[in-house]
Amino acid sequence: MNRILIAEDEHRIASFLEKGLRANGFATALAGDGRAALAMARSGQFDLVILDLGLPEVDGADVLRELRRADPVLPVLVLTSREEAGEGAGALEGADDRMAKPFVFEELLARIRVRLRGDGAPEETILRVGDLALDLRTRRMRVGERTVDLTAREFTLAEVFLRHPGQVLSREQLLSHVWGYDFDPGSNVVDVYVRYLRRKLGAEHIGTVRGMGYRLETGADGPPPRP
Ligand code: CA
Repeated sequence: MNRILIAEDEHRIASFLEKGLRANGFATALAGDGRAALAMARSGQFDLVILDLGLPEVDGADVLRELRRADPVLPVLVLTSREEAGEGAGALEGADDRMAKPFVFEELLARIRVRLRGDGAPEETILRVGDLALDLRTRRMRVGERTVDLTAREFTLAEVFLRHPGQVLSREQLLSHVWGYDFDPGSNVVDVYVRYLRRKLGAEHIGTVRGMGYRLETGADGPPPRP
């Protein structure tokens, strides 16, 4: 299991990252300031570091510089605020990747997977569940023999479903995975997009679990799913 260090002082974002990463099979640890982040990152226990640039005690850019001196290969993904993202790249030399807040979790996850892939087998580029096939490279979806055009948002939502077949996903989970943590939790955007997906894939593919959320039906067991 890959271990990820989350260096982030903003509790809301740290816990959003921690929950999301754990749900996707990563082990995580938190560092709330730059000093702790540096000590933990140097321990050699982590496969990747998510580093917030604005950290107390020791600034994220200094953490990165120090860390690079100690460990030139540990992948570091830097999180920046909008203002910092506009600054020159100089402060971020040594970062493997960076993302500006607010970010969408699936995008962060995709970048983490790219960074961690190095030594393992190449990641599957086509996700298949039943007669559904989602090609992550061409961003095309097939339902049986039929090719379906998806918008960017529909694609991301479909990807979340296909990565968790048969699993109930709550509206909150889908919202944070596809729309990001800054989205209004009272919004009905998830229901709207599930409706779009059902229209394109066939209603039977996505089941409603009353009071809990939605589930990609695998067709493997149980009675035929109801739309
Ligand atoms: Ca911060």
